[in-house]
Amino acid sequence: MVNIQKLKYKESLKDKCGIFGIYGKGQDVARISFFGLYSLQHRGQEGAGITVTDGKCFKSVKGLGLVSSVFNEEKINSLKGFASIGHTRYSTTGGNKLCNVQPVVLDLKDDNFALAHNGNIINAMDLAHELPPDVKLSSTSDTEIMGWVIKNSTGKNWEEKILTSFNKFQGAFSMIVLTKNKLIAFRDTYGFRPLVLGKLNKSYIACSETCALDTVGAKFIREVAPGEIVVIDERGIQTVGKVKSTKKSFCLFEYVYLARPDSVFNKQLVHLVRQRSGEILAHESPVGADMVVAVPDSGTSAAIGYSKASGIPYGEVLIKNRYIGRTFIQPEQHIRDMGVRIKFNPLKEIVNGKRIIIVDDSIVRGTTMKKIVKMLRNCGAKKVHIRVCSPPVTDPCYFGIDTPDKNKLIASHMNVKQIEKFIGADSLAYLSLEGLKKASRVNPNQLCTSCFDGKYPMPVQGGFRKDVFETII
Ligand code: SF4
Repeated sequence: MVNIQKLKYKESLKDKCGIFGIYGKGQDVARISFFGLYSLQHRGQEGAGITVTDGKCFKSVKGLGLVSSVFNEEKINSLKGFASIGHTRYSTTGGNKLCNVQPVVLDLKDDNFALAHNGNIINAMDLAHELPPDVKLSSTSDTEIMGWVIKNSTGKNWEEKILTSFNKFQGAFSMIVLTKNKLIAFRDTYGFRPLVLGKLNKSYIACSETCALDTVGAKFIREVAPGEIVVIDERGIQTVGKVKSTKKSFCLFEYVYLARPDSVFNKQLVHLVRQRSGEILAHESPVGADMVVAVPDSGTSAAIGYSKASGIPYGEVLIKNRYIGRTFIQPEQHIRDMGVRIKFNPLKEIVNGKRIIIVDDSIVRGTTMKKIVKMLRNCGAKKVHIRVCSPPVTDPCYFGIDTPDKNKLIASHMNVKQIEKFIGADSLAYLSLEGLKKASRVNPNQLCTSCFDGKYPMPVQGGFRKDVFETII
């Protein structure tokens, strides 16, 4: 019997996972996976894991926390094999438990199967109900449900089972699975979340972003196409299945915030997309000021673009604690009261007496921006204008991004003027959706824009969001 307990919502918009897989005989695949995951840390900071196969059995190391704190030399050395998959996780609500850290391993004795998933399966609950009664779920994750659905599908090998079960999964899945002797990578027909392929000497890699390929010294080959299933083994990369993609919907938010600026999707460097959005925003919503500053780091590329197009000099004002990661230690009340100062410290001498334009990637709840405005005013800023390089976020995501519920999204119940007042800015302007699509240079009909316009590419009513539910027992 499946039991669901509802729970509190997360405060901000977070990605949920970075995935990395490598097939490479004679290579230290665990070590390469570690550095791959290390470069995907921005996609999840609350848990990490690596599973390797030596052709006979699997070995995993998993833990809560940053990649660098989960693994050490000894643990990496204990992971011997020729193929591995790894995962960095942004824990979903209530899911910050070791049992939910991926890869998910189905212990099937002589035919083990492990999965690393980026995305969210909307119909996970329905699928869980359809599983045979002898299946005992060991985690609260939709990924484990996917694993059991695949296992119970028809097919003479894993790739056939994946193909048979493919259309049962509604939602977003960029997935790398590990079997005894190969990797299989596949992506939902919408292509919500990224999945790229690369080559490192004689090894082959599948991972979330090209920045991970760069980090381990691999060459980018191509992206896994929406609906494509590839096998990666000693023969290289082979497409073994293609499910027709009727509506491509790459997540526009990957360009806005989620991905690293040095990654490339759809042939577009994320940094340049963000810079173009800043330029377009400067044309759409100009304002006189002495300085353009970014909310680091996700607003930096866009602020550079805004500065370039407006002719107003760009400068640094907010110094970010880049080593902050995620802490489970609750700060004392007086530190909590200082709010954003744990994350950002302003350069008072530079702010004093200036008219400042702050450029950020998005506003979700508005509480952080409100604190930043207050902080800059306390430092003597004469004017504080906010320019946001995405349209208002009005609707929740069902495709793997941890957004708060609709009523917690400030733009779902306030217009721009009301938000401006709430934040306390002298002016506030958002980039138009058309402007953002234009900046991406991706075919606008092949982008998901649901959190900006509420137009979902598939029915989501009553859909499962793993960030909203605590447990599935
Ligand atoms: S709803 Fe927003 S965050 Fe989610 S996939 Fe679509 S564009 Fe991305």
